[in-house]
Amino acid sequence: MIAAVLLLALPQAAAADPHVVDVDYEVALPAPPEPLAVVTLRVRGAREQLVLNAVERYAFTALPEPLLEGPLRAEDAAGGALAVRRDGPHQWTLPDLPASAREDGVTLRWRVPLTHRELEAVRANHDQYEFPYVAEDHALLSAGPLLFAPTNAALGDVRVRFELPDGWGVVAPWPEVEPGVFAPPGRRGLGDDLIAVGAWRTHLVVAEDDTGRTEIAVALAPGQEALEEHVVGVVDPIVRAELELFGTRPFERYLFVFARHEIQGFGGSAKASSMTLSARPDTPPERLTGSLAHLVAHEFHHTWPGGRGVPTPGSLRFVGEGFTDYYAYLVPARLGLLPWEELAAAFRRKLDGVRANAGWAATSLSAAGGDAFFQRGDTYRLVYDGGLLCALWLDLELRAADHDELPDLDALMRAFVNDAPADELPSLERLAALAGRALGPDGRAALERFATGTRGDLSAELARVDAFLDQDPAAVGARLALR
Ligand SMILES: [Zn+2]
Repeated sequence: MIAAVLLLALPQAAAADPHVVDVDYEVALPAPPEPLAVVTLRVRGAREQLVLNAVERYAFTALPEPLLEGPLRAEDAAGGALAVRRDGPHQWTLPDLPASAREDGVTLRWRVPLTHRELEAVRANHDQYEFPYVAEDHALLSAGPLLFAPTNAALGDVRVRFELPDGWGVVAPWPEVEPGVFAPPGRRGLGDDLIAVGAWRTHLVVAEDDTGRTEIAVALAPGQEALEEHVVGVVDPIVRAELELFGTRPFERYLFVFARHEIQGFGGSAKASSMTLSARPDTPPERLTGSLAHLVAHEFHHTWPGGRGVPTPGSLRFVGEGFTDYYAYLVPARLGLLPWEELAAAFRRKLDGVRANAGWAATSLSAAGGDAFFQRGDTYRLVYDGGLLCALWLDLELRAADHDELPDLDALMRAFVNDAPADELPSLERLAALAGRALGPDGRAALERFATGTRGDLSAELARVDAFLDQDPAAVGARLALR
């Protein structure tokens, strides 16, 4: 369960003479459906060169190169072929655009086989649920493998249209600016968002208060009907509770996708303004609500920092994943979807797990979030479980200190995420400074030890968490309740 990291450059700051291109995509699925998308991109405003990139990582599994059938081709408005140079697995350059192409636009075309779910690398990671597919009556599309974008210019208007078999509708997480034409939020939406087309069942949840209005669509693919009632019963309260926790609206529209289930157990991954979730339809109902609540609360929580469009560095992945997982237990417990007893038991298992985790004897939480994270194993679990315990410890310290502005972790995270300077990467320094403001220098030093030390440096903090979890569940619930 990780937030996909976009490796496209962030939009450049506006210069005196900004180079801006408008882009129009058409994604066509042939009828009768076959696992293929034909993408046409019209670019207006290009100068001497046009550089186009595919997103390198839009899912846990990064492919060595995008899946393509045949080469990417380009032509000018009169249909004249233009030279295309492939600079690397994910980049193409049109090196010498003639005046006609600069004035009247360039059209590029490529064909994407939608067979990602069959790739060995994807299956080995049980990662099918993040990738597109085409079935007889519906398809899951994904911006990452389909919508390559110019990278040597800022993006102006971005429009996406779908050419689909007769009767197929579109559920996209983007504003529909005219019938059938969608406007993704620039590069973020083009990076990894998901689009459901065809015979999906859709529910709409509208959350509205003085901070704004958010429309959440929940789309279930054919075959997922057994999940429907449980999904809606979980998504609705959790989305509302987390939007209140955030104290801000990361987006106006959002899409939850429950696509064809092809993995073992449960999986989820948050994208720019959409999320893919996977749950076994034959899960016993008594297990379904708890598991779904955790999954939805975890993944929707990712949209909070995700809404800023600035990635979390690997050194803070224990916050990005571990603090997020803390709230994935806490928010359902506060809503009565998870008994406090089960929250305490789960936190106890995390504590036992990190105490036995061989990785933490040698590696810090910050270091575990680097490349080693993607090897799974000890360091992967350490990032989640060590990060969760760090969040629990910090929340307990803050509640004990009862600082005016930062009385609990909810308030500290609002300050950390909502008040962050624009475009600045989240940093341990800022987080530690906030902890120091509420807890003083000792608290700040303890948080820094959590991030950069090993298990042996944290005996006192872990003992504190241990003692807390020894209380009866009602006391745990009273301590962690919403203020
Ligand atoms: Zn996650």
